Amino acid sequence: METLAHWSNGATLEAPADSRHAEVMNPATGEVSSKVALASAETTAEVIAAAHAAFPAWRDTSLTRRANILFNYRELLNKRKGELAAIITAEHGKVLDDAMGEISRGQEVVEYACGIPHLVKGGYTENASTKIDVHSIRQPLGVSAIISPFNFPAMVPMWFFPIAIAAGNTVVLKPSEKDPTAAIWMAELWKEAGLPDGVFNVVNGDKESVDTLLSDPRVSSVSFVGSTPIAQYVYATGTANGKRVQALGGAKNHMLVLPDADLDLAADAAVNAGFGAAGERCMAISAIVAIESIADELVAKIAERTQTLRVGDGTRGCDMGPLVTAAHRDKVAGYIDAGEAAGATMVLDGRTVTPDAEGEGFFLNPTLFDDVTTDMSIYTDEIFGPVLAVVRVESFDEGIDTINANPYGNGTAIFTNDGGAARRFENEIQVGMVGINVPIPVPMAYYSFGGWKNSLFGDTHAYGSEGINFFTRGKVVTSRWLDPSHGGLNLGFPQNA
Ligand code: NAD
Repeated sequence: METLAHWSNGATLEAPADSRHAEVMNPATGEVSSKVALASAETTAEVIAAAHAAFPAWRDTSLTRRANILFNYRELLNKRKGELAAIITAEHGKVLDDAMGEISRGQEVVEYACGIPHLVKGGYTENASTKIDVHSIRQPLGVSAIISPFNFPAMVPMWFFPIAIAAGNTVVLKPSEKDPTAAIWMAELWKEAGLPDGVFNVVNGDKESVDTLLSDPRVSSVSFVGSTPIAQYVYATGTANGKRVQALGGAKNHMLVLPDADLDLAADAAVNAGFGAAGERCMAISAIVAIESIADELVAKIAERTQTLRVGDGTRGCDMGPLVTAAHRDKVAGYIDAGEAAGATMVLDGRTVTPDAEGEGFFLNPTLFDDVTTDMSIYTDEIFGPVLAVVRVESFDEGIDTINANPYGNGTAIFTNDGGAARRFENEIQVGMVGINVPIPVPMAYYSFGGWKNSLFGDTHAYGSEGINFFTRGKVVTSRWLDPSHGGLNLGFPQNA
């Protein structure tokens, strides 16, 4: 069985003999497919050292050369993304099409970062004072740590590393221990693209390596994506250690359906965004807020469509794959038990499933609950599985209040044909990413991705112009080139003239 190690200074860094390991599973078959090393503090420090050593030369590498390497990376990714998709499906379980989709959304950020010469351009003011000029520059920070979750093993790291690297930083990526192979594959691709050794490194591990990244003084910034409690911990610890931190957390995304909406479109969207990737998306819709007058019809349409979905191995052309681990499958099933016990109406029960797969994979069918109230755990908690909860409300106002009262604020959507209602929703909703008749409003690479409230700690969203700001530091230079007529003593505070 293959044992996955680390990637440091342009080559595999084997784990020491006494290294801890975790099992990597194929969730569709329930079999262990490989083992991954879990780095000790010492091994993590060794990888940080490689990134730290590579920084001075990389920060002084021309923008043209950096952009060329990014273009190479983009071309290679385009050619070989099928290999990466197969890796993602084998370790995460999502269906192949969906894996290809995640790579494409990550690739957008690579393409955005190809424009780095323009993105880090500064400003220049001539004669701010007589014969005194001022200009601004943005410079890289140093070593950027990226800590990513299991649910997007390629896209989430690509929200950060193309911009970090393009801006002149070096990177240590700590991927999820549940699906670590994608990170190593992407590291090898960087090497092929011509990135100098040490600029992109991967340390596999768990809390021990994360804690080292959060405390090592050679790490300048931390970009984290994962569950809310860990995001909060990473933010608090990283900032206490003087680092720049952006920590994206969990979500509970609502979709509000008004009576004038196209209910067929809304039902399609609910099914796609609720059950895609088995609900293991931070932008998954998990609560449908339906106005009472159309709720029966909407629930019937969602149920009808959901029953046509084929669940099984992601390599077999199914619609929905397995959950990532047996433990996570059982946790999601536990929420379904709790929803039933709490008195929600079970429209579709996903606990019984006959998947199109060999072996003992971690499957559930999609579950649909109606008449869910906001005190039930299937509403309050992020389930991160294929469970949709319909909450009925009497009015648009009550819908907005319900969404705004939720402690998460990652994404939300409204389905309506009323422009005025959509505009009011956009204006009043306390959520970072809003869709209007669009269920998963993941912003394009030239905007920025990030939630509000318990869905993001820190004030900088991922990628786009906020990503450029995060991975660079501003500097302002005021200059005067003396000519012989200048001179003399003046101890007063300099004033404009
Ligand atoms: P997770 O929080 O368990 O793990 C995320 C990362 O943190 C992993 O690399 C993991 O190894 C590390 N980690 C886990 N426990 C740790 C600890 N105690 N101390 C230090 N590091 C630790 O999250 P997950 O289960 O891998 O991913 C699912 C979660 O990620 C969901 O909550 C989902 O909403 C969230 N997510 C959010 C976004 C977003 O953009 N807001 C995007 C994707 C996923």
